[in-house]
Amino acid sequence: MSGVSPSEAPLAVFGGTFNPVHYGHLRSALELVEKLDLAQLRLMPSAAPPHREAPACSARHRAAMVALAVAGEPRLVCDERELQRPGPSYTYDSLAELRGELGPRRSLCMVMGGDAVAGLDGWYRWRELLELAHVIVIARPGWNLPRDGAVARWLLRHRLDAAGDLRAAPAGGVLVEELRPLDISSTEIRRLLATGRSARYLMPQVVLDYIEDNALYR
Ligand code: ATP
Repeated sequence: MSGVSPSEAPLAVFGGTFNPVHYGHLRSALELVEKLDLAQLRLMPSAAPPHREAPACSARHRAAMVALAVAGEPRLVCDERELQRPGPSYTYDSLAELRGELGPRRSLCMVMGGDAVAGLDGWYRWRELLELAHVIVIARPGWNLPRDGAVARWLLRHRLDAAGDLRAAPAGGVLVEELRPLDISSTEIRRLLATGRSARYLMPQVVLDYIEDNALYR
């Protein structure tokens, strides 16, 4: 692929189950937009995550919560494409769709947490992801990058030195970004809610109100 035009800021996509979305996701997303000068970051809820048990909360509810959480912040958007596709929600397929929409020259980045990168070699067509996009790895509290194995070698081979490199090509590099650590997880939030405790201040109030109104995570 040829180089990108410098005027076009990269577009990023951040996949996850978002079950439910919380400030760990949202703050990381916003910090990435500002640090890397991204045109937009799309949070993309997985309808049928291939690598974990199907979430009890429907994809429709999870996407609705993401949409509510990012309303009013135009640089963050909920991308519902995986809800429209039947079968397992493969990130490769979503990136291929996005690449088709953006054309071959625009810089596209896929964001993932440091915990997710350790299992990347189990993902569908994982080695081909870099043909479609760059990968941005968020260094997450309590997780280290893999030091040996296929993913460690892949990191060494493709790692970018600086954020500016994301603009030099449309795809193909891996950038590791250390962001403000916020040790919040959806698992912990589900546990709090299931036991009748409060998840206030871990996520936007509008999401908590949605959970209450729809009697989720009881
Ligand atoms: P669960 O506890 O159900 O596994 P989670 O909180 O890890 O959920 P996911 O929806 O699985 O959230 O995560 C989507 C993406 O966000 C993943 O790449 C994950 O690594 C990242 N992520 C989750 N929590 C944080 C956080 N606190 N800070 C930075 N990244 C996060």
